[in-house]
Amino acid sequence: MHSIIKQATKAASSSHTAAQAGIVIVGGGLAGLAAAVEALRRTQGSGVTVALLEKEARTGGNSAKASSGINGAGTQTQRKLGINDTVAALEADTLRSARGEGSSVLAERLAQDSAGAVEWLQTQFALDLDVVAQLGGHSVARTHRRPDTPDGRPQPVGWGIVSALAKHLADEPRFRLVAGARVTTLELDGARISGVTYEQDGATRQLDARAVVLATGGFGGGGEWLKRYAPQLEALPATNGAFATGDGLQLATAVGAALVGMERVQVHPTGFVRASEPAAHTKFLAAEALRGAGALLLDARGRRFVDELATRDVVTSAINDACGSPDTRATHAGAEDPGLPAAFLLLSQAAADAFGHGALGFYEKMGLVHSAAGLDALAAALRMPRAALEHSLRAHDEVRNANSVDGFGKRVFPQPALNADAAAPYFWAVVTPSIHYTMGGLRFDEHAHVLRATDGAPIPGLLAAGEVTGGLHGANRLAGNSLLECVVFGREAGRQAAMLALV
Ligand SMILES: Cc1cc2nc3c(=O)[nH]c(=O)nc-3n(C[C@H](O)[C@H](O)[C@H](O)COP(=O)(O)OP(=O)(O)OC[C@H]3O[C@@H](n4cnc5c(N)ncnc54)[C@H](O)[C@@H]3O)c2cc1C
Repeated sequence: MHSIIKQATKAASSSHTAAQAGIVIVGGGLAGLAAAVEALRRTQGSGVTVALLEKEARTGGNSAKASSGINGAGTQTQRKLGINDTVAALEADTLRSARGEGSSVLAERLAQDSAGAVEWLQTQFALDLDVVAQLGGHSVARTHRRPDTPDGRPQPVGWGIVSALAKHLADEPRFRLVAGARVTTLELDGARISGVTYEQDGATRQLDARAVVLATGGFGGGGEWLKRYAPQLEALPATNGAFATGDGLQLATAVGAALVGMERVQVHPTGFVRASEPAAHTKFLAAEALRGAGALLLDARGRRFVDELATRDVVTSAINDACGSPDTRATHAGAEDPGLPAAFLLLSQAAADAFGHGALGFYEKMGLVHSAAGLDALAAALRMPRAALEHSLRAHDEVRNANSVDGFGKRVFPQPALNADAAAPYFWAVVTPSIHYTMGGLRFDEHAHVLRATDGAPIPGLLAAGEVTGGLHGANRLAGNSLLECVVFGREAGRQAAMLALV
């Protein structure tokens, strides 16, 4: 379900003469698309053109894979649902999750613009971001996603957002998508960025520009940057597309950009292990929203071991500790054991209802989620003692009913764990920690300027947004904050690029 937007046009430039665009955007994920929309809006009536260069055949990037949603604090949707939230609370959650390494200036800007970002998507692109969940590390429900269609089909949130923006751009006469174009160099005119060189169809081409926006995403897909900064994670599977190789870091450091937080790589606790290919490197993500809807985590003996709504780093290290040995790690019956820590993810019927049967049915069709009718069948499928399983679920529900806090510090219990109807289905999966997001990247400021390593000043003509940047999320990104950063800082990069192009 990724890289879904068809190529619109190809560059008509020759390999000898540099073509011109007012603004060049590198990368067609959400950050690049948001930058393009805003740059066009801010240059209306001017004749300034915007070219978006994407190395894949289609736009979308990792943004198209996003499944849990986008954060907004104080949105109209939250108010409609009776959820009280504030900008200060989102900023505080973001910085707490960052473990003291996040930039308060960037977090403040992110939180301040969050409601506007969600409402921009809702009003400008008619996106129905009406389901709001409380995900790990959040003090309140604020992660917005799309509901299933009335006939029960899932509407993946990332795919929906990037499709809507790309469709909007396709109708813009001053916009050009150059697909299959890998940018290899940033060109300089003195100290100022003056364009890019790229490769397309075996030819090397140049495009001059008054401003360049880097929106090339992270480096969780593998390659040299990951090897250099997180060699200890090399054996882990990943949720990222193979295109996420940190190209923007190479491009920008070659013109003097500073890097920050490069060792900070987020391992998501729940990549699905598919019974038919348990050792596959690329894992389909088990959306955070599953745990937000009440999914529990169990070891192979049927014991809970963590607050499922803790931040990703905490849940990941709990799985590593509790589900690492051959007798505690979850596996599929009869399948090869890849030897990596893995847990069972379990939803009651109420949790499945809250998550939505459209998306759950999609996971089932993909062979990622399975169902078992009643506790006996569930215990048999998970190959654990029924009594231990029932004990864990009952203990969870007792604390939930008492409005109390459990032994893992869990205080939000979205749904009961035991089904009221003894014959009703439970839904389960095997999940394993997987490389997911790279917090490190280009040092940037709240106006999306890329900063120089030598003196911290902006590199003239160079902007960046999205996962290619670093410094906002510190040691650990809060769920839902990445789609948000793409919109907030992508739009800001577009705004700044427009100002440069109009001079
Ligand atoms: C499975 C999954 C689920 C996720 N779910 C969520 C979620 O629910 N909520 C949330 O907030 N975040 C989520 N994230 C994280 C989030 O989706 C990404 O961090 C974010 O979308 C990155 O957006 P981006 O625009 O920076 O990069 P991307 O969307 O990855 O786009 C970068 C694009 O740049 C292109 N590119 C790279 N190098 C070059 C080059 N040299 N020349 C030209 N083009 C280039 C790539 O091909 C790619 O298309 C999820 C991530 C994954 C992998």
